[in-house]
Amino acid sequence: MATRNTANIFADILERVKNLDPVNTRNWFDELEILGFEGGILEVGCPDDNTAQYLDDNCRNCFTNASQDITGHLVSVKFTVTKGQTLRPDTTRQGAVRLHPDYTFENFVVGPCNRLAHASCVAVSQSPGKTYNPLFLYGSVGLGKTHLLHAICNEARKKTPEAVIQFLSCEEFVNKFISAIEKGQLLGFQNQFRTVDILVIDDVQFLHEREQSQEEFFHTFNALYNNRKQLVLSADSAPADIPALEERLVSRFKWGLVARIDAPSYETRIAIVKKKAHLRGIELSEEIAESIATKVKANIRELEGALTIIYATARASGEEITLELAENALGSHDVSSRKNITITEIIDVVTRYFDVRLADLQSKRRSQSITLPRQICMYLARHLTGHSLKEIGGHLGGRDHTTVLHACTKIENMQKTDQATRRQLEELTESIT
Ligand code: ADP
Ligand code: MG
Repeated sequence: MATRNTANIFADILERVKNLDPVNTRNWFDELEILGFEGGILEVGCPDDNTAQYLDDNCRNCFTNASQDITGHLVSVKFTVTKGQTLRPDTTRQGAVRLHPDYTFENFVVGPCNRLAHASCVAVSQSPGKTYNPLFLYGSVGLGKTHLLHAICNEARKKTPEAVIQFLSCEEFVNKFISAIEKGQLLGFQNQFRTVDILVIDDVQFLHEREQSQEEFFHTFNALYNNRKQLVLSADSAPADIPALEERLVSRFKWGLVARIDAPSYETRIAIVKKKAHLRGIELSEEIAESIATKVKANIRELEGALTIIYATARASGEEITLELAENALGSHDVSSRKNITITEIIDVVTRYFDVRLADLQSKRRSQSITLPRQICMYLARHLTGHSLKEIGGHLGGRDHTTVLHACTKIENMQKTDQATRRQLEELTESIT
């Protein structure tokens, strides 16, 4: 039990945490309790596994620094689950299922853009394997696919704690498969995936052009489907539009329900901004929420970014969040300028950067020196403008949307693994914006 004194210290520490790390601060931090503070160890009690994991992954340093600032001593911080679920014994078999505590149905705002996707996810979480199987969600980046997948798992875990759930990105699936082959442990791999109750795989467009992984995935799919186990998949485009995906997989993905998520409308954006602010312990006035929703249109991740900037600006200056502060904070941020960028401007900057001609980009030439700039144009156009894949393809020699999509995925992956590409993209984006 915390004495009055340690409880006060903990309140100060929490206040300091909020100042040091507004991005990761959540409204439920106020429910954390201090379990003990002895021998330089601050033990913090949290309600369940997900919150403990979240704190461990994101906030350990911040809590450590805050505790040291407040007490003036070296402190190490430990997060302990007090009530609710602790890790179940079969967790090792599942691999670590890291579910994000923010990504629940309660925290998901429903609007016309995502109503079907949301309703089908709720149905699946209530009776896995019995309603829509497989459930396939698709939509462009930052529109809530990953959030909904986590929400299904969070809910299913609450409702049927004994269910074995596997949640992973398609990239992880592919990497695990490759490593199982290399180590000669294919059987173990197959057991791990073919015996679960719910298999959730995020971003399956990553399977494109990976023939062997597609083959393995196909068999995993069949094994689970035939045993009436639930499959949930997400991708950035509809099954038929994922480049180089085998026809037999495309057709299986369509067996159950395919639900599209669209970009949120103005009203939905306002509701999301408010929800996100509330989650971070900030109450926003109607006019501020409207102002953010007007400025930031592209996707929801950017809405959150805008909120972070506003919150951090207010914290740093010690001022209240007013409309003026919000607009000034966002004014210097590039989210508002993005809407005016045209494909022509992008092509202009890219051709100069790589010293190639527009005619080359539009030609059928496929040498690396031409293909790369062409694909980078497509990627940047996808991210910096609101044009469709088809329109982007139209500007670059009448290429079809699958070619553009393929280019976007390729550059996206390159930027994740290759520092030089990342730098090029940053430089280009800077020149364009
Ligand atoms: P995707 O997987 O489609 O790229 P994410 O699920 O990662 O997108 O969503 C990006 C961010 O936007 C997440 O922080 C998520 O919580 C938030 N988000 C997306 N849609 C909604 C929604 N309808 N309500 C609340 N938050 C949302
Ligand atoms: Mg995602």
